[in-house]
Amino acid sequence: MNDPLPSLRREYCVKLAASFLAEMDVTSFPLRPADLIRAKGWALKTYDWLAGLRGVRDPFAVMDMRKEVFLSEDAMVARQGGRYLIVYDERARPHGRVNFSLMHEVGHVALGHLDSLPGGALRHSGLPEAEMRTLDREADCFASNTLAPAILAARFHARLSPAECARLFRVSMRAWETRLAFLAWDCACMADDDKEAQKSRFMGFILRVEREREACLPPG
Ligand SMILES: [Zn+2]
Repeated sequence: MNDPLPSLRREYCVKLAASFLAEMDVTSFPLRPADLIRAKGWALKTYDWLAGLRGVRDPFAVMDMRKEVFLSEDAMVARQGGRYLIVYDERARPHGRVNFSLMHEVGHVALGHLDSLPGGALRHSGLPEAEMRTLDREADCFASNTLAPAILAARFHARLSPAECARLFRVSMRAWETRLAFLAWDCACMADDDKEAQKSRFMGFILRVEREREACLPPG
């Protein structure tokens, strides 16, 4: 498989994910995307809320509307002036999928994707499909590297089962597989100093997980 992102773009997304976690003072996992979004002062609403605004009561009509308006995405983000609104599908399962969708939208904002768009939303922005795909891959890279930073993913991947890792970071199994697929590239584009800074930031978390893990292992 080839890296779907040019290496400089990956480096930029991974760096921004790390500085976002530092800015939000995140030291342990699982991440709580809804809390982070509110702490940023951005509005967070559900598709049901949106349906209520439009007078739609039938849940199936909500699903149809979602497909029509948001092209079946689990979440979307819009900007008006300096304000951001993230709307998401609270019915999406498993729940870890919601976390990834929310951090994907946060990524669009953090990476500045909405800044230069006249409409303030990526959908219907008139961007060519290939450009949209690149922006989505960047947002995915941001989501992976905030929900399960590369140095932690590498460390726990070597010690825990995939299901345990998915639970630890509260992501779906599919999101965890994606995390692993890009892990080597994400690690390779980080400077050693940045890796060390993240390791010391998350050291308390690392030690706690490894202590709990040891306590669960059978003696001998
Ligand atoms: Zn997107």
